[in-house]
This record gives sequence, structure tokens and C-alpha cells, in this order.
Amino acid sequence: MGLHEIRDRIARAEAAAGRDAGSVQLIAVSKVQPTERVQAVLREGHRLFGENYVQEAAGKWPAWRAEFPDVAVHMIGPLQTNKAKQAVELFEAIHTLDRPSLADKLARLAQARGTSPDLFIQVNTGVEPQKAGVLPDNLDDFVAMARGLDLPVVGLMCIPPEEEAPAQHFAMLAEMAARNGLPGLSMGMSGDFEGAIAAGATHVRVGSAIFGARAYV
Ligand SMILES: *Cc1c(COP(=O)(O)O)cnc(C)c1O
Repeated sequence: MGLHEIRDRIARAEAAAGRDAGSVQLIAVSKVQPTERVQAVLREGHRLFGENYVQEAAGKWPAWRAEFPDVAVHMIGPLQTNKAKQAVELFEAIHTLDRPSLADKLARLAQARGTSPDLFIQVNTGVEPQKAGVLPDNLDDFVAMARGLDLPVVGLMCIPPEEEAPAQHFAMLAEMAARNGLPGLSMGMSGDFEGAIAAGATHVRVGSAIFGARAYV
């Protein structure tokens, strides 16, 4: 596949859904991909990337940012509270705000720095015990709490259960975002981003369909 095919498919999905061209942002998920593959996509002009691990991102993006100053990197993996400080220095957005202790930490960091990455709240739409995310029943209260801390919450994020049709999860996330007045919807991956766009995704997170299969993870 590759970058150009994915961009074409996004454009077609936008048009099919009656949405404006360019209304969906493509986050190229570069976690654990070989350096050459990421550099190739940078040279093709792509500037928005996603990473899952603070340590890995810290090891590669500072150098690439020096070369490509308009790059933006979003954190899409689980964030430990003790990595939050490093994360707010590394990322333009964090898609995995999922608990009060992390909200408190990010709020303290925002106060101290006078700025914060944009935040998406991760929702565990499938109520899966092993998966991170705020439970659907607690979401409205969590949004209110985060807003009370003056955090820049811009949207919601979900990873649907693997064994279920994703469409109902995308629809649920869109409904919860609308109800809370949140414009951003981070949903859709290599296997299901067109369905996510039909349901209103503003950010799709596509890794293997751009870069090829990951060697691990
Ligand atoms: C790895 C990952 C992706 C990209 O997955 P692909 O199937 O390779 O597109 C998207 N979102 C999250 C949260 C991920 O961890």
C-alpha cells in the first residue's frame, strides 16, 4: 500500500460521506518502524505522525524535527503518569487521557509550562477489562472534571474490540463527542479507517497500511 494510496482512500471516503476534502487528518503511526520507512514518508511530505512509546519517540523525533520543523507527533499509546512530563515536551497532542490521576498531572504541567498539548480522552467503548479508557457511563463526568482543570480537551479516541464490528463503536464515540460538545474524533486504523470516516472521524491512525507490517508489537 503506502502513503499515496491511503491518502486517495481517505479522499474517497470523505467524498462518499459528503464531507469536505481535507477534513480528516491522517496520523501516520510510525511506532517500531525502521528508520528508512519513516524517513521515506517524511520525504514524501507527510508531517503528522503517531507514536505509542515515550522512550521510543524521544529517541527519534528530536533529530527529525530539526530537519523537518513543521512535523507534529501525537501520542496514541498508554501514558504512565511518571512519563507525563516528558510526553508534554515531545508531543503536540495526547490521545490517551484516561484517568483522573493523569488529568491532575497534565493540569499541573500545563500550569507550570503555560501551555499543553491538545488532549483526546480515550473511551473504552467495548468495556473491555484489559483495555485502557474511561468507561462510557463515566465519560460525561470525566469531561467535566477535565474541563474544570482547564485542560484543552479537543476530542475523544477509541480502539474498538477486535472481535466486534467497529461501526457501532465509532457511532457511540461520535454520539458521546457531540453530546459533550467535542469536535475531535480519533478513530479508525489500517483495517477500518473508511468506516471511521463515514462515522465522522477527524483523525485516523494508520500504521501498517502505510509503512508495512511491524516487526513486533
Ligand atoms: C498501532 C496503533 C495504530 C495503528 O495500527 P495499524 O493497524 O498498524 O494501522 C493505531 N492506533 C493505536 C492506538 C495503535 O496502538
